[in-house]
Amino acid sequence: MLIDSYDRVVDYLRVSVTERCNFRCQYCMPEKPFSWVPKENLLSFEEMFEFMKVAIDEGVKKIRITGGEPLLREDLDKFLKMIYDYEPSIDLAMTTNAYLLKGTAQKLKDAGLKRINVSIDTLKPSVAQAIAGKDVLKNVLEGVDEALKVGLKVKVNMVPMKNMNFDEIIDVLEYSKERGMSIRFIEYMENSFARADISGVKSAELLEKLREHYEFSDDGFDGSSPSHYFTMKDDGYRFGIIEPYEDDFCKKCNRIRLTAEGNLIPCLYFDESMSIAESIKCGDIKAAAEVLKEVVRTKPEKNRWGGEESESSSRAFYETGG
Ligand code: SAM
Repeated sequence: MLIDSYDRVVDYLRVSVTERCNFRCQYCMPEKPFSWVPKENLLSFEEMFEFMKVAIDEGVKKIRITGGEPLLREDLDKFLKMIYDYEPSIDLAMTTNAYLLKGTAQKLKDAGLKRINVSIDTLKPSVAQAIAGKDVLKNVLEGVDEALKVGLKVKVNMVPMKNMNFDEIIDVLEYSKERGMSIRFIEYMENSFARADISGVKSAELLEKLREHYEFSDDGFDGSSPSHYFTMKDDGYRFGIIEPYEDDFCKKCNRIRLTAEGNLIPCLYFDESMSIAESIKCGDIKAAAEVLKEVVRTKPEKNRWGGEESESSSRAFYETGG
């Protein structure tokens, strides 16, 4: 079992399979980066899988594939199947913008994928164009429909921003609710890659707006999920808010992140990481396991969003996978 220095069990690995993305979301990657990581520096799926086995053997129970946009990477279904075949009980999930999901959802499900989180920040084509930098909404919504049709569990992620999509939180919630998908509103996390004029919406303001429309109870936190949950009084629908600026946000953090280049990152906020690339490439599984333990040991107690020293991270979300 992997336990960090603050007694948190680390059993969740998020794997960014590519930093590349087909969207240019204003809060994440508004511009194409100056250069992409050269292809030869990326871990192959076989190499990533060698590390997944180490992580699973050490106690990881949940793996989420993310990016950049994970569906841009070829043979993703084969990678999922390798993980599933090694340990079918793994909670195998993916976070995607859903643009390429139509036509691939069945293949991913057949490979062992259980759940997906889809980013839906708006239901207006023009706003989607303004956020993502291109006309994406039709493909995204068709991708979601197909995922539901093939039986994948789908959760919706929305990042509310002032003067952008805050006025749509009820519409996106209702869209999700009608389709049996839960929704999590993610507070915008300031980072040096996002457009400078973005203004996020904190949970207090979100809740105020939601209270104008619904009556709901505050359920607090559930296990190690980062979501603060709420349940509607009339129909029991549950929604969540991710509040990284709150003091106790990191208390139950159970996750570490692997980048496409093989860097293991103990915290979404900080720049620190350790590479497993070399040990995996030369087949030194013991060394990779040592790096994993060291990264868990050095996992920081807290991020610094909301802290006194800094409120903006110099980490790119498209590199870490969010
Ligand atoms: N391309 C995929 C997608 O769009 O979901 C996966 C990668 S994306 C980096 C993963 C998640 O990070 C998305 O839900 C996205 O909304 C969230 N994210 C990215 N930048 C963020 C920011 N600055 N603040 C809050 N959430 C952010």
